[in-house]
Amino acid sequence: MPNYDYKCEKCEHLFEVFQTMSAEKLSDCPQENCDGKVKRLLGTGGAVIFKGSGFYETDYRSDSYKAGEKKAKKAKETSSPKKEGND
Ligand SMILES: [Zn+2]
Repeated sequence: MPNYDYKCEKCEHLFEVFQTMSAEKLSDCPQENCDGKVKRLLGTGGAVIFKGSGFYETDYRSDSYKAGEKKAKKAKETSSPKKEGND
C-alpha cells in the first residue's frame, strides 16, 4: 500500500497516511484545533513510480540492443537456406 504525505495549508502540519490508490484523498486537517485544508504532496508513492519507470527504461534499452544483435545474426542465417530453396 502506498503512503502519502499530506500538509495542512493552514497550520503546516505534516503527516503521513497509508491508503490505497483508489482511496479518497484527504482534505481536512486532522488537528482538532485546525479546520484547514490539507494538500497531498508528491512523496514516497511518486518516487517509487519514477524509480520504476527508470528501471524499465534501462532494462528495455539493453534488451532491445540484444534483440537487434540477434536479429542481424538471424538474417544472415536465413539468407543462405533461402538461396538453396530458390535453386
Ligand atoms: Zn491544520
